[in-house]
Amino acid sequence: LSRLKSGLTKSSSKLTQGLGDLFTKRKLDDEALEDLEDLLITTDLGVGTAARVTKRLAKTRFGQDVGAEEIKQVLAEEVAQILAPVAKPLQPACVARPHVVLVVGVNGSGKTTTIGKMAKHFKDQGKQVALAAGDTFRAAAVEQLKVWGERTQCPVFSRETGADAAGLVFDAMAESAKRGDDLLFVDTAGRLQNKADLMEELRKVVRVIKKQDETAPHDVLLVLDATVGQNAHSQVEVFKDMVDVTGLVLTKLDGTARGGVLVALAEKFALPVHAIGVGEKAEDLRPFDANAFARSLVG
Ligand code: GDP
Repeated sequence: LSRLKSGLTKSSSKLTQGLGDLFTKRKLDDEALEDLEDLLITTDLGVGTAARVTKRLAKTRFGQDVGAEEIKQVLAEEVAQILAPVAKPLQPACVARPHVVLVVGVNGSGKTTTIGKMAKHFKDQGKQVALAAGDTFRAAAVEQLKVWGERTQCPVFSRETGADAAGLVFDAMAESAKRGDDLLFVDTAGRLQNKADLMEELRKVVRVIKKQDETAPHDVLLVLDATVGQNAHSQVEVFKDMVDVTGLVLTKLDGTARGGVLVALAEKFALPVHAIGVGEKAEDLRPFDANAFARSLVG
């Protein structure tokens, strides 16, 4: 929790400072409510959340003096309520062997790092884990996944740069099944510059996975970089269009003032949020906890 709290310092201090400036003690009139709503929108919380918090305060406290602490309280409750239904730590059933987790997202969002962190997490739980370097386009991505494979002592299925991603994933699944792995994490390409190509590639990857096991992929995780703020919304739209996204992981919540975007995403898409990234190391992945997040965000 302390890491999460320090991770969200920038997000919460922006909010806290703004609230402190606005409400040392101020009469809650129309103008004050408007200022509050604007502030909440600038912290990426989303218009819906901003409107609801403002309305709730107006209902009970209109015309009275309110302070920043009281507003924070209402805000934290509201945020926790929005987040509670989407907070679902990843608990792969591992009924199928392997349980296939397809990981998608824009290049640089933190896919490979998140796979490395999840590999460690599930290895520590005693699961047998393998990784597939499905971003065959970028040599650096393959190398990086291999580093994580060594670090977590998981085998990495890979091929030469430029090889067919679907072919690699097909073979990786067969190999992984032969080994009797519990979990197979599949890294993928994320070059959004060429959406049509990427869509075709990802869909082909899904098709070949289904050829081996029609119940797979069992999870399709979209990794989003929280520092992109509102752009995360369009990334969800784009990837939902390409594949059946089943859940989200938000990365880089350490050191960004845009952590509020998670609330807006939860409200808009209602997709499960499985985990959050709060650093670059193997242990910097946290199961997503609605109350802890709300408290850390509001400060
Ligand atoms: P990919 O292209 O989607 O596979 O993204 P990478 O996993 O290569 O991550 C891109 C960069 O972001 C790397 O330098 C990672 O170390 C960094 N990164 C990933 N997750 C986090 C996080 O939660 N916090 C921080 N601070 N950096 C992260």
